[in-house]
Amino acid sequence: MKAIYTFGNGQAEGRADMRDLLGGKGANLAEMNLIGVPVPPGFTITTEICRLYNQKGREAVVEMIKEDVKKSVEHIEKLTGNKFNDPTNPQLVSVRSGAPVSMPGMMDTVLNLGINDAVAETLAQKSGNPRFAWDSYRRFVQMYGDVVLGMKPTNKTDIDPFEAIIEEVKEQKGVKFDTDLDVEDLKELVKRFKAAVKENTGKDFPTDAYDQLWGAIYAVFDSWNNDRAILYRRMNQIPEEYGTAVNVQAMVYGNMGNNSATGVCFSRDAATGENLFNGEYLINAQGEDVVAGVRTPQQIMTEGSRRWAKLQGISEQERAAKYPSLEESMPECAKQLVDIQHKLEEHYHDMQDMEFTIQDGKLWLLQTRNGKRTGAAMVKIAMDLLREGAIDEKTVIKRMEPGKLDELLHPVFDKAAVKTAKVMAKGLPASPGAATGQIVFFADDAEEWASRKKKVIMVRLETSPEDLRGMSVAQGILTARGGMTSHAAVVARGMGKCCVSGAGEIKVDYKARTVEMGGKTYKEGDWISINGSTGEVYDGLVATVDADLSGDFAAVMNLAEKYSKMDVYTNADSPRDASVARKLGAHGIGLCRTEHMFFEGDRIKAMREMIIAPDEASRRIALAKLLPLQRGDFEGIFEAMDGYEVTIRLLDPPLHEFVPHQLETMRELAEQTGRTLEEVKLVCDGLEEFNPMLGHRGCRLGNTYPEITEMQARAIIEAALNVKAKGVDVHPKIMVPLIGVKNEIQMQADIINETAQKVFAERGDTVAYKVGTMIEIPRAALVADQIAEVVDFFSFGTNDLTQMTFGYSRDDAGKFLAIYKNLGILKVDPFEVLDQEGVGQLVEMATRKGRATKPELNVGICGEHGGEPSSVKFCASLGMNYVSCSPYRVPIARLAAAQAAVEAE
Ligand code: PEP
Ligand code: MG
Repeated sequence: MKAIYTFGNGQAEGRADMRDLLGGKGANLAEMNLIGVPVPPGFTITTEICRLYNQKGREAVVEMIKEDVKKSVEHIEKLTGNKFNDPTNPQLVSVRSGAPVSMPGMMDTVLNLGINDAVAETLAQKSGNPRFAWDSYRRFVQMYGDVVLGMKPTNKTDIDPFEAIIEEVKEQKGVKFDTDLDVEDLKELVKRFKAAVKENTGKDFPTDAYDQLWGAIYAVFDSWNNDRAILYRRMNQIPEEYGTAVNVQAMVYGNMGNNSATGVCFSRDAATGENLFNGEYLINAQGEDVVAGVRTPQQIMTEGSRRWAKLQGISEQERAAKYPSLEESMPECAKQLVDIQHKLEEHYHDMQDMEFTIQDGKLWLLQTRNGKRTGAAMVKIAMDLLREGAIDEKTVIKRMEPGKLDELLHPVFDKAAVKTAKVMAKGLPASPGAATGQIVFFADDAEEWASRKKKVIMVRLETSPEDLRGMSVAQGILTARGGMTSHAAVVARGMGKCCVSGAGEIKVDYKARTVEMGGKTYKEGDWISINGSTGEVYDGLVATVDADLSGDFAAVMNLAEKYSKMDVYTNADSPRDASVARKLGAHGIGLCRTEHMFFEGDRIKAMREMIIAPDEASRRIALAKLLPLQRGDFEGIFEAMDGYEVTIRLLDPPLHEFVPHQLETMRELAEQTGRTLEEVKLVCDGLEEFNPMLGHRGCRLGNTYPEITEMQARAIIEAALNVKAKGVDVHPKIMVPLIGVKNEIQMQADIINETAQKVFAERGDTVAYKVGTMIEIPRAALVADQIAEVVDFFSFGTNDLTQMTFGYSRDDAGKFLAIYKNLGILKVDPFEVLDQEGVGQLVEMATRKGRATKPELNVGICGEHGGEPSSVKFCASLGMNYVSCSPYRVPIARLAAAQAAVEAE
């Protein structure tokens, strides 16, 4: 087994397609070498070693790779001519994580490793720049102390313990900026940092370079299992077992003076998708400074710089003097960077997110990866690349993350409302969208408030990976510091969350829990609105309108249509939902639940009258009152779905859900029906069940009270004839729920067909209709061949099928599912993501058996899984005719269906 892959000087043992083994960063560092991009030499310890580390422990792994690590360090030494762990001619390295799937900021990095007092002295002499040497040293002790030795803030309102020491020293000296500290101050910092480490850990700070290196390697491996990495993987469905690679690379220094710099850049705009090379850099700084949001980064391109200055209200004069672009300050390097970003984008055929360092006028690339982007940018970039001829249509489809389309469907601010809104502050448009919510300052508060269904906006000086949970539940994020590549911006774009960053004029006070802007002091809980597309922060609530679904979004949807082989229907119970779904591309209704129709207005009275009726005759009287109401509902839905199939399901829930539970309402019902309160109470109590989900519900209602099915079938057929007479192209499908035995569906089908014939005779007209059943009880799946004899279609009710296959109550599973996921017993919630391994077998078997009996059997799914991408793909793989999902998930399902078709080729 090869544990380590080296690279450098235009050679590499790895390649771009080895990301599973080398992680994304390692694979691309290798590839960049191979295509002639300047990259500092180094090596990658594979993800396989990380997996062994997690299984077998530290000692076993060190034993295994010790020699290889030494040899690989020598490889670096050979290429740079320096020596690791040697104060006379020292080589420093960076140690960085890199998983197969990028997890920005979630795992750890250590820079300037290999330094100690003697090495710092040599670096100072050799570079002729003691400030650089001691700045690198204090950064190393700080980062190593944090990442490897675990010295973090102890309290959420505290700052980082090392930052606290820096503040102390700055205060003693009476200066404001880090850059005002001189060599002696930096030496003092190193001393105090080390003392703090000793006090905190009880051990001296390690001085041997190899001890430092192993410490950092362990820390990177360990960081795979830190809380934020685990959370990030869960949120993004990244497998636990991947592991991270470790990249060790010769240091290049962006902090070597004013001819050095470091930065981050994107070949296109990650927020909007605009084809504009952009990025940020800092002179005389190291990588972490740019993303940490502590100093205000400058723009790489002059055009971007001017846009930035405009947003910040900075004059052109001040901009050019104080915040020049890289094009202006280091034109040669900027030109080279522009060429490299072109080369990389052309090589990878996708938008690249790159990190670079300029050491004394020489440009080095430290990383390239396909950039994280918002849903809007995902769509625009893919369509632009298609138009540019860089990728083909199928690649456009494969590139989409279906879930991200959701962002494009969200409301945006109403233009008229924005005009009159009061702008309190302006920041950078870090991640587009409209967000309105109550101010909170801390991630745990965001979580707690959101759990109480409150809409919150997280307001922070800057964000760090610890804030991930809070960010994920917030409507939007507003930060005082940090640029377009700050942590907040990158993570928000990845989440598709609205974000305004670097709103420099806002004053956040964590201790007082207030933020001051535009002359007003906002407290925790006050309402604000933020516009991630313009960077504006508004006072209070600003109205929103529906998103525009034309342009590139429509183009991507057309491609989905062109390539998918499976149709997408919607679950809709009202004409309004039906037309929303239709606009989003639904080609029919796969599930219209009829039960809610019994609750509106006076309907519930007739429904209750029917339920407590002592005999069939009185039941029929009550049902006759419901008939016209249902018929009217169905007419509306048929009209909205003109030309498409509409699947209407017969009554499903237990009757107990409809009867009154309060004495007052029972009394009313008694009065209304001319019965005594005692009689009413007796009936209602009698309907109570121990396990209503497994009780008197579904087709069991229609079989024990055939007149209910009769009424519903009549309402459907009459409605169909009525709209047909108006010229509507109507295709009714009548669906029977909760079948487990062939006789159950046989009896229901007989009632439906007899009723239809009666109505046809009465009306002297007919309409084509289909009768089908839900497959949602495991037994129905097992005897699907028999059931198919009776019906035209199957629709998998995977909510109930999951409930009954796992034996988890849909209504109670919330109590233990979260714990099960944390314990790793379950990877995902099976009510969200179809359990292909177990429930999937039943679905596969029923489809196969049903079609063996009736090859033309129409098969679909209408459980919640019908809008979840991996489940949609599974349904496509079984050759289903359609999936049906809630209206706003229709585009997601359409794309997933197209992906399934393209991937199957
Ligand atoms: C199902 O069980 O999957 C289904 C769609 O029906 P309901 O959720 O209404 O029980
Ligand atoms: Mg069901």
